[in-house]
Amino acid sequence: MYWRRNFHPEDPPAISTAAAQRPDYQAFEARMRRELHQLSAALKKSVPFHSPRYIGHMASDLLLPGLAAHILTLPYNPNNVSEDAAPVTVDLEVKAGLQLAGMLGYPNDPSRPDCAFGHLTSGGTLANYQALRLALAMKAFPVALWASGIGDLPLPEDAWHAFNLHPQRAIELVEAWQRWQAEADGGMRRRWREKVERSRIEHLGLAAFFAQHPSLRPPKVLAPITAHYSWSKGCKLLGLGRAQLELLPQRGMRIDVAALQETLDRCLREKQPVLMTVAVMGTTEYGTIDPIDAVVAAREHFAAEGLGFCVHVDAAWGGYLATLLRNADGSLRPREDVAAEFKRFPAPEVYAAIAALSQTDSATVDPHKLGYLPYGSGAFVCRDHRATALLSEEADYVFHDKPSQDYMARYRGLGRFILEGSKSGAAAAGVYVAQRVLPLDHTHFGRLTAQTVHAAESFYDRAMRFAEDMQSRVHAVIPFQPDSNLVCLALNPAGNRDVAHANAFLRRLYEQLRCDVNRPLQDKQFFGSITTLRPDALGETETRRILDVLGLDLASLGRDGNDRLLILRHTLMNPYLIDHENGISYIDLYFDYLGSSIRAMLAQ
Ligand SMILES: *Cc1c(COP(=O)(O)O)cnc(C)c1O
Repeated sequence: MYWRRNFHPEDPPAISTAAAQRPDYQAFEARMRRELHQLSAALKKSVPFHSPRYIGHMASDLLLPGLAAHILTLPYNPNNVSEDAAPVTVDLEVKAGLQLAGMLGYPNDPSRPDCAFGHLTSGGTLANYQALRLALAMKAFPVALWASGIGDLPLPEDAWHAFNLHPQRAIELVEAWQRWQAEADGGMRRRWREKVERSRIEHLGLAAFFAQHPSLRPPKVLAPITAHYSWSKGCKLLGLGRAQLELLPQRGMRIDVAALQETLDRCLREKQPVLMTVAVMGTTEYGTIDPIDAVVAAREHFAAEGLGFCVHVDAAWGGYLATLLRNADGSLRPREDVAAEFKRFPAPEVYAAIAALSQTDSATVDPHKLGYLPYGSGAFVCRDHRATALLSEEADYVFHDKPSQDYMARYRGLGRFILEGSKSGAAAAGVYVAQRVLPLDHTHFGRLTAQTVHAAESFYDRAMRFAEDMQSRVHAVIPFQPDSNLVCLALNPAGNRDVAHANAFLRRLYEQLRCDVNRPLQDKQFFGSITTLRPDALGETETRRILDVLGLDLASLGRDGNDRLLILRHTLMNPYLIDHENGISYIDLYFDYLGSSIRAMLAQ
């Protein structure tokens, strides 16, 4: 209020003080109050994400520093599309990107030429689109440069080689091209720029680009079967088509490395280019972590064979787990140090996967998930910011003789690089402040992440005891070792062999764990969620093993449309699931509740 008033104190208030006595003013105020009361009343039916009794989807309580910074910034209404509309918060967004880059192990010192760059998005979905767009730009730009035939640059030998460079080589070409322009004289520079611009995929579109280069085909996106559906949406949006999304088989809900190598071998043989391989860090359904290290190794191997592609990590859910592996100075903690704090985490393969993040090309991280911040903040981060010159709507190298040397100045025109236009500066302030109060290392933010892993380990042990206590009534199985803080539980009433019956049983159980707007909220003891185990994702051996321990007949899978097994899914992100202060374990309470619900159901 004072800030507004002090802008030009000589400006009189536009609404006179006497206006408050006018009937239409009073009628307006009455209507506003009535509607706000109604909204407030209606919101009481919201899902109680804040409560440790909520272990359903990927939401929990909000971090106070982030929420307060968000609310504080809202009335100033900054628009982070550019510094003209957000002189303060655009910088905060770029700095939040650097905070996340540090967590991932990317270079995050803006004075380094190869510094990372990250920006916020409305969510993980948009961040994944941005990853696809950048990867395609990096893949196709060397072809444009090659086609222009410009003399004194280290160009690839043909279109195929240009289209299949190691992503780092592509970035070096962008660099070389910019240096070349800085040195060329005005007329020549203009002519060549036009020529290169006209050969770019962003100018031509997919159809004309591939028509001009008959040795090339639209590239594939390789992603695990459990990948989020945003990858399917993204392939459609980019015009590649859903057919270019090839889903990789898995083993224990993680990418099967041998199958990945086979797929890449086939692509190489068939001269089928690959745009990117997506590794998931914390799958949406099971929380499993793909072998990121093996995917990075595959990129190195196949790039050397002439089949280059980007590695993108979809860490929308699991990204913040990396805080557990970071020291305050940004260095990587040895596995033994991390493991000393936990019972099982991190499994050696989980540690190796997270440690390899630093070698990936880009990543998606959702501050509105494990970052405990309000919705409207996902993030895209790429390891080497020089590639973003290719995204720029008014390419830097067209409008500046030299690429902007000042990192912060370059990204103050954020709107030129991102998919969105107008966007919330308040959300950016929230992310930045939260991550300043709790820096993204194991001694600060990581203490919060550690609570979630402790909760998951405790949940796992309690589930084992539950399975033992209940074995005369129900078979309960954790289908695979949880990698992090999401734990699933499969159930089958003892004596039943039919998948359809097991699914009906789980569906009835879930009726009690789901949100129901027609019943008072307080009637609910706990909130959970469900997902399915699908033989196509699980593979035959694993499917057989899990059905066996549950006492289910494999032959009944697929009967009456029951081609998958319903299971309970628990997202353990509330830091107070084990409430030391009051000596309450909500995990114990949950299993007590689950046990009594099941007993009651079976008694019926
Ligand atoms: C949540 C999630 C997404 C999508 O993110 P939104 O923020 O919902 O758009 C993508 N990938 C994974 C792995 C996710 O968990």
